[in-house]
This record gives sequence, C-alpha cells and structure tokens, in this order.
Amino acid sequence: MPGGPDRRSWTARRARPGWRPRIATLRTPFIWALRSISGRASSSPLHAKPRGWGDWNGTMAKLYFYYSTMNAGKSTALLQASYNYGERGMRTLVYTSRLDDRANGLVASRIGISAEARHFVPGGDLFAEIGDDHAASPVACVFIDEAQFLTPDHVRQLARVVDQLNIPVLCYGLRTDFLGRLFEGSAQLLAWADTLGEIKTVCHCGRKATMVVRVDPDGTVERAGAQVEIGGNDRYVSLCRRHFMGAMDTGSV
Ligand SMILES: [Zn+2]
Repeated sequence: MPGGPDRRSWTARRARPGWRPRIATLRTPFIWALRSISGRASSSPLHAKPRGWGDWNGTMAKLYFYYSTMNAGKSTALLQASYNYGERGMRTLVYTSRLDDRANGLVASRIGISAEARHFVPGGDLFAEIGDDHAASPVACVFIDEAQFLTPDHVRQLARVVDQLNIPVLCYGLRTDFLGRLFEGSAQLLAWADTLGEIKTVCHCGRKATMVVRVDPDGTVERAGAQVEIGGNDRYVSLCRRHFMGAMDTGSV
C-alpha cells in the first residue's frame, strides 16, 4: 500500500530494524546512574571486556579515560571490569596513586568491594615496569584509579604501553577539582586518550552532576586552598554546573 497508512500490527512495526520505544524517562538522570552502574551505557565497555583489548583477539589496544565527578562509582566500575578479566582467566594490573592512602595499596569502592593495587609515583616509569611484568607473565589489561594524579609523563608512558605492548589501559579519574579546574593528569588524558567516557551521577536537583565543591567542617564551601586534600569523601559534594556556580557565589551548597 504505497503512500497509504501503515496498517501493519503494532507487533510488526515494533519488529522493524531500528525501532525503539519512545519513553521520555529513559533519559532521566536516575536512569543514567543506573546505566552507569550496570554497564549498559551506550558503547561503553565499562564492565565488559573493552573493545580493543589487545593481543588477545588480534585487535589494536586503546587508551581509555573514564572521567566523572566525586562519588559517581569510578572505583566500582574499575573493580567490576578488572573482575571480568580475572573471571576469564586473564591477568590484570591495578594501579592507584600513593597520594591516596585511604586504603593502603588497595582500590576500594564505597559499596564494599576492593582489590589490591600498586602505586604510581612521580618519577616512576610505568612503561618499563609494566613491560617487565608483561614479559614475565602476560598482562591482559591495565587499570588506573585516581588517574587525575598521573603526571603527563605517566600518561605518555601508558600510551606507549598501549601502542608498543598492545595492552589496553583503562584510566578512571576526576575531571576537575573543587574549583572547577582540570587536574594535570586528566588534562593529559583528555588530550591523549583514544576513547573518552563519562561515569555519571546526579546533583541534588536531578540534573547530571559534572562539578564538585569541597566544604569545610562547618559546611562552608571552600573557594581557595590546596588542590589535593585526601580523605573525607563527605567533604566533597557533586553538583550540576548551575548549582556549582551558585555555591561558589554564596559559599553554601
Ligand atoms: Zn543542580
């Protein structure tokens, strides 16, 4: 019936390629958060074996940077992805910053899971270290937590791990600090990563939170101070940009 109304049944129309239900709520921040946790975010390899996972399937490895604000579940995502490799009998290396001594030599998630981790330190050579390890026993994937604290040299070393050793490297970190400035490691990763992904969480207003403020013990928003102040996750509040700017103007969240 060319030109006429589509008289096929709803079931038949639903079966057409590319059909998707139009449900507005699929776009709500709550669903974003759930999809981040469940690993079903579009094209995100957060919890599955990443595409480009190196020698193991004959493809080219990639450097990934998954960024977010505070308390969005970065460590949880990292630990789940690393676990997926281990479950398939593949070895991973997990690194975190020595700056972060909340859990010594561990990547720990707020929901109670953790894994042993090595430390990356300023002046260290991650390419040499990972290369030696890989020569002794093949490494399927490298995970970096607290990637905002990488130095630009570290990021270049990790790029060589990807390009020369063909090992995928997945970095997880904060994009910006409590004043809305890029961290050094995050700036280098944003520039150099093959694939960028955002791990989403929500502001108190329901919008996506992309910024973070730091509050002092009496609850006042800090508008100056050291960029790095480890510990006390409860001192950081993730906000949308509108509420971040409001907090900076008024000094309260
Ligand atoms: Zn907001």
